Amino acid sequence: MNQENSRENLKYIFTQYLDKKGHRKTPERFAILDEIFSFQGHFNIKSLYLSMKDKNYTVSRATLYNTIDLLLESNLIIKHQFRNNITCYEKIFECARHDHLICTSCGAVIEFNEPEIQKTEEKIARMMNFTMTHRSIYFYGICENCLISVCP
Ligand SMILES: [Zn+2]
Ligand SMILES: [Zn+2]
Repeated sequence: MNQENSRENLKYIFTQYLDKKGHRKTPERFAILDEIFSFQGHFNIKSLYLSMKDKNYTVSRATLYNTIDLLLESNLIIKHQFRNNITCYEKIFECARHDHLICTSCGAVIEFNEPEIQKTEEKIARMMNFTMTHRSIYFYGICENCLISVCP
């Protein structure tokens, strides 16, 4: 699937969702979706707001929060709480499936991709007759850098 196709596909999924739930299809909501599409990696409300402002697109924080909620509900993005009080988001469409290692000392977030974990998840979902819409695994611990700094 090429970039343009998946962008169209995404708009389609979001449009279907908004229609189904009776939400308005405002240009702001689609502009936010577009902006998120262009991001790599994790983002938060503030970075989203700033990058839109950079492009002279001003949306209210209320609209951002509200649209983020809709994108979460439609399973286009996922919410992460890597550290206390810091909420960030990540797109889950056309993004390689991955999981996160979180350092509880410095807060570093390291991504990894292990197909064996994913195979196991799918097996469990099948066994439990469970339709998995999305998934996420976090490992908490101490990263390599922090380990080096405590062990001279
Ligand atoms: Zn660390
Ligand atoms: Zn990630």
